[in-house]
Amino acid sequence: MPPHTELTCSCGNIHLRLEGEPLLAAECQCDSCRTAAAWLAEIPGGEPVTSATGGTPYVLYRKDRVRFAAGGDNLRAYRLTAASPTRRVVAACCNTPLFLEFQGGHWLSLYAGLWPDEIRPAPAMRTMVSDLPAGQTLPADIPNHKTQSVGFFFTLLTAWAAMGFRSPKIPVASEVVWGEAT
Ligand SMILES: [Zn+2]
Ligand SMILES: [Zn+2]
Repeated sequence: MPPHTELTCSCGNIHLRLEGEPLLAAECQCDSCRTAAAWLAEIPGGEPVTSATGGTPYVLYRKDRVRFAAGGDNLRAYRLTAASPTRRVVAACCNTPLFLEFQGGHWLSLYAGLWPDEIRPAPAMRTMVSDLPAGQTLPADIPNHKTQSVGFFFTLLTAWAAMGFRSPKIPVASEVVWGEAT
């Protein structure tokens, strides 16, 4: 039996079951993750998704290794603009941030805050550091990559090949464009 991880939203309605090990744990420093983190922080009941550096730590899993054991029909997606190729998905029950999804992507970037402290995978790198606000510096505890690292793309590509180049769809119950939110 491969190891698996079970996570829930804060109210316990949504149960996620993750099969095996993550592809990668990384902290994203890009502008859109910062903007989205600020929006997410304003949703009632939502939890902060940023680390002390202002970046957003994610744990990446193949989509075919992420299963909603309960509550999968209770997801709400947010886009920064109607044209955004990415969406951030929260639990509609309690607004717990769940994951970031690229349109057509074969992986999910799950918000690391879903993991209890004791078992949360530590980020192996920071990415998109070129977007760091002027004057801010980062610790050198893990590699700080200006954009995405080559290893990051290679890991994703290898996983996609193993999935037969399929990109499973994740249905969401509703979608909101932040720029148009009331
Ligand atoms: Zn919930
Ligand atoms: Zn980002």
